[in-house]
Amino acid sequence: MKANAIYGLIVGALIFIPLERLFALRKSQAIFRRGWFTDVLHFLFTRSLADVFTFVFVGSLILLFHWIVNADFQSAVASQNRGLQFLEAVTVANVGGYFGHRLSHEVPFLWRFHSIHHSISEMDWLAAARVHPLDQIVTKALTLVPLYVLGFSKATFGAYIGLATVHAVFIHANVRFKFGPLRWLIGSPEFHHWHHSADPEAYNKNYAGELPLLDLIFGTYYLPRNRMPAKYGVSEPVPLGYLGQMLHPFRS
Ligand SMILES: [Zn+2]
Ligand SMILES: [Zn+2]
Repeated sequence: MKANAIYGLIVGALIFIPLERLFALRKSQAIFRRGWFTDVLHFLFTRSLADVFTFVFVGSLILLFHWIVNADFQSAVASQNRGLQFLEAVTVANVGGYFGHRLSHEVPFLWRFHSIHHSISEMDWLAAARVHPLDQIVTKALTLVPLYVLGFSKATFGAYIGLATVHAVFIHANVRFKFGPLRWLIGSPEFHHWHHSADPEAYNKNYAGELPLLDLIFGTYYLPRNRMPAKYGVSEPVPLGYLGQMLHPFRS
């Protein structure tokens, strides 16, 4: 466990618990809801483990595909205006992320790992931490390798990772914010809550992170008006405890 993880947990709690009290989507949902302790353990331990796996996997891919890199093209990308570069990076990362996430649902072997994240039955900010450490290596590879190959600057990389981390926590939160006419453009809690819906009609929808437009383009957009999911979770049994969740993909 890194000290950063403890600070992250404290800062996250200080920001999101009051936000969820003030703008609750489900007012009766408790702070210490079902599975909260498991998710605290995921927050503290799983992320560091996931970073190690991602570093090894993404690092190996970069070494393997190093020959693709075109230094002139990379320096042209990195020398662009910061704002433009950031928007391009968000778009590139989201296209990779969309397909990585979609594969995690559609390939049964990958779903074994991703089903841990979807076992959440009560959505809140902490639920974002429930991710098996091997779940996201494919999605992360499809997100980070193109950013590296295309040559985005370190500052752009850092800004994108910062945005994606905070955004991921926000879209799981128990908040009722809706983005009105921008709902198809920017990923909202409403959009991602539907991704977690237990309603079969909403299965395999809303794969995008920050840019729901990708789901519109690829036919997986699902956002009913004036309605929120009645229930979250998966139909198959997933253990509630931390160790059980870590071992689940290897048992099923
Ligand atoms: Zn998913
Ligand atoms: Zn989620």
